[in-house]
Amino acid sequence: MWKKQILALQGDITKQAVEAIVNAANPSLLGGGGVDGAIHRAAGPQLLEECRRLNGCQTGEAKITGGYRLAAKWVIHTVGPVWHGGNQQEDLLLASCYRHSLALAASQQIRSIAFPAISTGAYGFPLERAALIAVTEVQNFLKQPSSIEQVIFVCFSSEDFDCYQKVIHKLIV
Ligand code: ADP
Repeated sequence: MWKKQILALQGDITKQAVEAIVNAANPSLLGGGGVDGAIHRAAGPQLLEECRRLNGCQTGEAKITGGYRLAAKWVIHTVGPVWHGGNQQEDLLLASCYRHSLALAASQQIRSIAFPAISTGAYGFPLERAALIAVTEVQNFLKQPSSIEQVIFVCFSSEDFDCYQKVIHKLIV
């Protein structure tokens, strides 16, 4: 039996009781709006202090910190691509965010991880295209042995949730 689980839910990623949550950060790792701002507010000022020591993060890469006041023990900060129309390697870079975040989580023996819809807010990546990439990368990663047993896509809006449900159904069920 395949005990690994991929699911979508609608909610606030800062409230998720998983071992790691992923932050859609910007290259400075010094905080921002959207989900990044929400995570920093919920984790408290120590998160920013730790982030200052990381010297930023390149697009498509990921770095890990503690979760501080969050229920999650870890925050994995990844920098998604800004959407420029699709011809600037946006798809590859977004896939790289998911792969690197999962690899970093696995290197810490993390079992459960929650992702927001990286790049689909301020960075303008089309939602369904992003969801197809997200689910495909997670599915591929889970085919190999690793510590990760549960991956949750946390959708902020009901429209995002509907889209992820459709994509998961199409690719997995
Ligand atoms: P990006 O700059 O990578 O586009 P944003 O933070 O602007 O990042 O948006 C990414 C996604 O995160 C959007 O779908 C946005 O609605 C969502 N989002 C914002 N706040 C939260 C939150 N607290 N929990 C989960 N998702 C959130």
